[in-house]
This record gives sequence, C-alpha cells and structure tokens, in this order.
Amino acid sequence: RTIFNTIELLPPDALFGIKQRYNADERKDKVDLGIGAYRDNQGKPWVLPSVKSAELAIHADPNYNHEYLNITGLNALTSGAANIIFGPDSDAIKNERIVSTQSISGTGALHIAAKFLSKFFPERKIYLSDPTWANHQAIFQAQGLVTNTYPYWDNETKSLDLNGFERSIEVAPEGSVFVLHACAHNPTGLDPTKEQWETILERIAYKGHLALFDSAYQGFASGDLNKDAYSIRLGVEKLKRVAPILVCQSFAKNVGMYGERVGCFHIVLPEQDTKEELTTVKKALSSQLSKIIRSEVSNPPAYGAKIVATILNSDELRAQWYKDMITMSSRIMEMRVTLRDRLNELGTPGTWDHIVEQTGMFSFTGLTSEMVARLEKEHSIYMVSSGRASIAGLNKLNVDRVAQSIDEVVR
Ligand code: PMP
Repeated sequence: RTIFNTIELLPPDALFGIKQRYNADERKDKVDLGIGAYRDNQGKPWVLPSVKSAELAIHADPNYNHEYLNITGLNALTSGAANIIFGPDSDAIKNERIVSTQSISGTGALHIAAKFLSKFFPERKIYLSDPTWANHQAIFQAQGLVTNTYPYWDNETKSLDLNGFERSIEVAPEGSVFVLHACAHNPTGLDPTKEQWETILERIAYKGHLALFDSAYQGFASGDLNKDAYSIRLGVEKLKRVAPILVCQSFAKNVGMYGERVGCFHIVLPEQDTKEELTTVKKALSSQLSKIIRSEVSNPPAYGAKIVATILNSDELRAQWYKDMITMSSRIMEMRVTLRDRLNELGTPGTWDHIVEQTGMFSFTGLTSEMVARLEKEHSIYMVSSGRASIAGLNKLNVDRVAQSIDEVVR
C-alpha cells in the first residue's frame, strides 16, 4: 500500500463517458448525438477546405518551423481574432482598448479568466445560466470562485425566463460576474432576442456587473460571423463607459480546430480619461496575463494558431471559410427541419418545433433521462441524459431511424 491507495475513484466525465460507451458499442447502426463536434452527411469528421488550403500554405513556406510562440501567442491570430469578434469597425479596436492573448481553445480562455478573477477579485460571485455547459462550474470553482446561477430556460414554455434573469441581475451583489453565452447557448440552443439582449446588457451595466462572454460558436450557429457576434458587440457598446468586458473565444467549432486547441482571451477596457492611462492599464494587464500563462503552459500551441491566423489574414481563405461555415450551419439546419418533420409525420406525442427554433450545435429535445437511457440501450442512439442532442450527429442516412426511435421511446 502507498499513500496514493486511499485516493477516491471518480466517475467518468459525463460527456466523454458517453463517447467511451459509444465507441465500445458494436451495433452497426449506432448514432452519436453526444459530444458537440461537426460531422458531414456520411457522419465523418470534416476538415474545412479553408483549413486544408491554409495547411498547404503553411507547409509551403520556406521558413516553416516549430519554434515557440510568444507567451501571449501569435499576434496574427490574436489581432485577426479580435477583428472578427468585435467587427472591423469596432470603436474598441480603433481606440486600442483591447488586451488579447492566445489561449488553449475556449476552455483555456475561460481558465485564464477564472485565474485572473480569482487573483484580483476573489470575492466576486460568478453567475452562470441555469442550465449551462457543465464545465463552466468546474472551471470557476477550481479557482476557488463561488458560482451561482441565474434563471435562463423556462421548461414550461421552452423559452427564455427573462424576468428571472433580470431579477438575478438586480439582486446580485454589485460587481458580480455574469457569464453569457454569446450565441448558440449550450445546452438549450436558445438565445435571447436582440431586444432581450438590450435589456440584459442595460441591466448589467446599470448594476455595475462584469460581463464575461463565452463565444464558442461564432459563425457556426447562423453561418454569419456578424450575426453571431451581435451580443458581444452590443455589450462592448453598452459598457464602454462603465466596466471592462471579458471575452473567451474558441475556434474549435467554427474552424473545426477541436483537438488543436486554438482560442483567444480578450479584455475590452472602457474608455479612459487619457491615452497614458489606457497604455498603463493595458501594459499591466498584459503583464499579469503573461504571468498566468507562463506558469501554466509557458506559451500556447503553435500549429493550429498558424492555421487560423493564415485564414483570418487572407482575403481568399477568409472567403472560403465563410462558405465553409455556411456549409456546416445549413446542414445542421436541414437536419433540424428533417427531424422535426419526421416526428410530426409519425405523430409523435408532443410538439417538436423547438428543434427548428433552437440554434447552434444542440437541441434541448425535452426527452427525459429515462427516454435517453432507452434510446441508448434499445436503439444504440447516444445523447446527454438532460435530453441534449448534438444535431451535427444526424445525417440523411440515420435521421429516419433516429426519429422512429424517439417516437418509440416517447410513446
Ligand atoms: N463554452 C461552451 C459553451 C462550449 O459549448 C464549449 C465547447 N463545448 C466551450 C466553451 C469550449 O470548448 P473548447 O475548449 O473546445 O474550445
């Protein structure tokens, strides 16, 4: 026996546990609607054409190498990333009010945010939507921060509980941190309307809270980068005289960089009295972020960053990338419509329009955990027990069988 023998065994991660069971399942027609990763119409992972072209360009460069990046990452990535998320006409970019650093995808950006907050504002509470991506809670709590929830999904109406959300903003201690899904809310697929974002962000500004936008699906949700960045750009505008904004940006879904771990963390500062003041605070923030990153990963991974930077900085590749995002988002939309239509044709009890109304990778189907368990056991269809289905796992070959199986477990 050693001192390690008493260490407790933890259950497998809920989401990656589904993947393990799926991989071990020998039934031929199994369907994976678990992890949110895009699949093509044959159910295969898809390397975006823009990514293939960028890789060719990178390898053709005579100066190609595997040197370390800076601690804050590849400048061509962080500046290109800021451009797409804040918009080419962004006042914050023009006035240089943004401090950016590369991160280990979206999770790493959230981790930097959590480390930063726990170091400088440890007493501030972190408000997460109910429900939210399960890792949010884990990431903030791991840094000793206290998390709380704000109402979001109204299960009765399958719509946003705006009143509950507003009440939370009202009663949260001043300066609390509100984590907001920039678009394609995970797991519900339900986003606030433009008018609702106005209300939410105005209330956050009024109460002096900090807004932290988690952007994991920009361009992937609607096919349009600008549309999917609406909430962030509105937040930057509404808070520009009030408080900084934190933005965690992932390129996992929209560039298909999942395992390459490409992301950025941005702090947008409010307007300062003088240029000198702005320069001073930016330098200080950048030095602090560097210190956090240096002790954890030393410097971020280079290969995926070069791919994304190459796309962002080439007119031709960016144009191809826009098409690629439309390919992905429109196939997902088509699958939403097909699934809804099949369920309606079968007369499956319940209403299914929410599948089409929801956006992004997921549908919060409304299936119970018992139904989900039966889908797995009897039909080899895998999804999260909350009833969240990754629509990207559907294709023309399996959607009919999925609809029939849902019909069977719902009855
Ligand atoms: N936030 C949300 C809401 C997500 O859904 C995801 C991906 N599942 C992430 C962040 C981060 O993912 P990654 O670290 O792969 O970029």
